[in-house]
Amino acid sequence: MKYVSTRGGDPQNFEQVLLRGLAPDGGLYVPSQLPHFSEAEIASFSGLTYSDLAMKIIGPFVADTIPEADLKRCIDDSYAEFSHRAVAPLQMLGPNEWILELYHGPTLAFKDFALQVLGRLLDYVLTRNNQRVAILGATSGDTGSAALEGCRHSAMVDIFILHPHNRISEVQRRQMTTVKAGNVYNLAVEGNFDDCQKIVKAAFADQGFLPDGRQLVAVNSINWARIMVQIVYYFYASLSLGGPQRPVSFTVPTGNFGDIYAGYLAREMGLPINQLVVATNSNDILHRFIHNNEYSATELTHTLSPSMDIMISSNFERYLFDLFGRDAKKLCEFMEQSGGGSMHVSDDRWQQVRKCFSSFAVNDDETCEVIKQVYKDSGVLLDPHTAVGVKAATECNSNREIPMITLATAHPVKFSDAINAAGIPTPLLPVHLKDLFEREEFYAVVDNSVDAVTEYVSNHLGA
Ligand SMILES: *Cc1c(COP(=O)(O)O)cnc(C)c1O
Repeated sequence: MKYVSTRGGDPQNFEQVLLRGLAPDGGLYVPSQLPHFSEAEIASFSGLTYSDLAMKIIGPFVADTIPEADLKRCIDDSYAEFSHRAVAPLQMLGPNEWILELYHGPTLAFKDFALQVLGRLLDYVLTRNNQRVAILGATSGDTGSAALEGCRHSAMVDIFILHPHNRISEVQRRQMTTVKAGNVYNLAVEGNFDDCQKIVKAAFADQGFLPDGRQLVAVNSINWARIMVQIVYYFYASLSLGGPQRPVSFTVPTGNFGDIYAGYLAREMGLPINQLVVATNSNDILHRFIHNNEYSATELTHTLSPSMDIMISSNFERYLFDLFGRDAKKLCEFMEQSGGGSMHVSDDRWQQVRKCFSSFAVNDDETCEVIKQVYKDSGVLLDPHTAVGVKAATECNSNREIPMITLATAHPVKFSDAINAAGIPTPLLPVHLKDLFEREEFYAVVDNSVDAVTEYVSNHLGA
């Protein structure tokens, strides 16, 4: 399968896409053509284990780069790390209301699904090439620990993870800073997540600070491999609830637009999905765009759902590429202009957006209210991101005959501030993290500047 950049560069194969993350022209990679499954084919996947289903969905995307047996080992080993045998179990909240629990991986958030696999795919390809790389990533909290957990075992990588200093939860920080390994570096940047993301983008654009032969690899959701792996659980959830014969709807707590974009792709690949609901917190640029055709950045707000405190969602560009008829030139113009002021698309295109997505924005008070209410009504404790989703699902649901599945993106124990704000005591940490608060932390605080970060990286590369 070939991949193209949303900004129009030359087609690449999966290996190049995996190693590069961002295209050299600043665009994001997308498949030149998506695989499509007929209803009969999807029906034939029913009853497969999570790993076997993942083989069916991911196989076509990597076929010319990774032999089937090696892919199978990467996938099987990844999901063997999960603490629930179903890997992605569904839980019922009410009639036709479900959550898909995506937090049974090693770091308790959905990002483990992709990063466990990504780490193994990277290690496989780098070992085959006898190539050493530096992973550089920014995290609003959950990506960092999932990336460290997925990649730290590879002898071929040094990992540098930027997080916004004092702006992630203590559990999130400790999950990263207590990782003891010679190839792992945590950098606390004196800025917010968007600042971290900008620094990472700038470092990728100019890699002159690295020694010859060394390159940066992106593990943020700009890396296509992550999106690809996330498509699987949409199929899995649908099949668990009578799909493909019976359509389902999904609501997705959204930050960088990676997770919901995977849902969009699942639908494009043939999965019968009725509604796709974008749930945002008060950082609601996507909601304003979908609802009012207004795409304009405002000041970033810090909320109880910090992993969604993002103004400019990187992966939205992938969707816009389709919306602009895969015309890279038109997309470039839009992206360049969207730097300043408010943007909108033509009415035709906007109607297309509205056919594709519903949306809703949820503030912190509503988030707490939902956590409280669902706990009272169903005994289920939601993390604040999932609560944003459940609220949006309730508000946007247009057909109560169709199962509405909200993606439960993190375990509530990661976000005790929100749980306590809802008047509920902090739940216990799972056994494998029991002593998290006693472990020693390792991190460096750095200035909010590209130079400070690239200097740190070049001073800490392994031989
Ligand atoms: C990363 C994250 C999100 C947002 O996912 P995107 O793919 O960035 O839209 C939502 N909830 C949690 C808990 C996360 O860690």
